[in-house]
Amino acid sequence: MTVDVGTGSLSAVLNTTAGELSGHLNRGEMALTLVLADQPEDVRCSLAESSRGRGRAEAVRFAHAADMVLRIPETFICVAQSGRFSVAHLDMIYVRIQRHMRSVASAMRNEVRTVLDAAVDAALSSWLSEGAAEGAVVHLKVVQDLVDAVFAEVATDIAEATERREADSAELTRSGTSLRLNCGSETIATATWDAITQRALEMHTELSDAAEKVGLDLDPAEAAADGTIEVSAATAVVPTLGECRARVLLDLLGDTAETMKVQVNLFRLSTDGKTGVGPGYVIGQGWVSEGTAAMLETAATKTVVLEDVDEVLRAESEQYRFPFVTQLQMEGRDGFCRFPGCDVPACRCDHDHIVASSHTDPGSDGPTSLANGMCLCRRHHVLKTRGIWRPVTEDGGLTVEWTGPDGEKVIARASGPLAQVMRREMESSDPDPPDTSDPPDMPGSSEPDG
Ligand SMILES: [Zn+2]
Repeated sequence: MTVDVGTGSLSAVLNTTAGELSGHLNRGEMALTLVLADQPEDVRCSLAESSRGRGRAEAVRFAHAADMVLRIPETFICVAQSGRFSVAHLDMIYVRIQRHMRSVASAMRNEVRTVLDAAVDAALSSWLSEGAAEGAVVHLKVVQDLVDAVFAEVATDIAEATERREADSAELTRSGTSLRLNCGSETIATATWDAITQRALEMHTELSDAAEKVGLDLDPAEAAADGTIEVSAATAVVPTLGECRARVLLDLLGDTAETMKVQVNLFRLSTDGKTGVGPGYVIGQGWVSEGTAAMLETAATKTVVLEDVDEVLRAESEQYRFPFVTQLQMEGRDGFCRFPGCDVPACRCDHDHIVASSHTDPGSDGPTSLANGMCLCRRHHVLKTRGIWRPVTEDGGLTVEWTGPDGEKVIARASGPLAQVMRREMESSDPDPPDTSDPPDMPGSSEPDG
């Protein structure tokens, strides 16, 4: 059985217009908000989650809205019956005020918030009761502007401090294949986005025109006779606007993604000391397929062959700084920070002396060698330098035993691709190996010691 519900019959069934419907929905949200406002703060979220079944983010919005019932009561009375605000509106007011609270010293926060709440409440309730845009859906941005205007007027210093703080918080982070640029302030984010979009649009238009030309120049019959598929290929390769934005950004770095100079340290087994075989290991990324490893190796500008492990381990430098090749070997052996359980990739770590060098501690004589070196992230390097955790090694850094502040001992085994080769080599050259029952190497593998 099928039910044909046209637009006309739908509104007949509901006997309502879209505007009236959003009013009904909003009043429903306000009813739940009011119920939550009656509950202790710490149970509001879980109650909202169980009432709506829409997950944590929505529950948090309801909890914020419930907070606003008590903080801007006049405004709430204006909107609760009229259905003109949704939970999103109240949440937005909460977030907008909260944004500035971070610029206020914590001792002053309660006092300042009370003053600001009162000012926002007065401004919003009078705007609503004056009948501004009566009956119409209130756009979130309009409410945001109203709240921001209150801040600009009654808390100029705080508003300025917020803008300065946000501008300073600009940062670029990476998660997997995604780069996330936080521009700090909305103004800078908007301006940056608009500038990139403008250039991406120009690029997009140019590429679309070129693709179209290729398509028009080709006689479809002729193309088919040729067995070519240029027409469809040409139209398919026009990148999206989002892809053009990415190209604009990469171009700004002075190069394109294809030719950009990047440093990738690839570790690979070799049977002849010249060419790698099998999959490879890239520090900071992990194991890559044989195909990717071969591709990277072809592009390599420098190849280092590790022949005699014993010799490599014993090679010492007079300098305090580990030679570049030793640094690479250390990263290849360690894979990660050598503090137990830490997963900071070795390529982002410091190269540290296990036994301090005489360059930093006149009473110590730790050599600058692979056997006396280990990769430590900055945080764990500090713990070690301060003597809070103390490391020792008896097998040239492959195994490091750490002693903690309460005398507890934890073993950290090197887990990089070179560690396995080194262990094998050391065992085969040692007629009486102390312990050959190492478990498979895992990142940051560690085990507590009784
Ligand atoms: Zn670490």
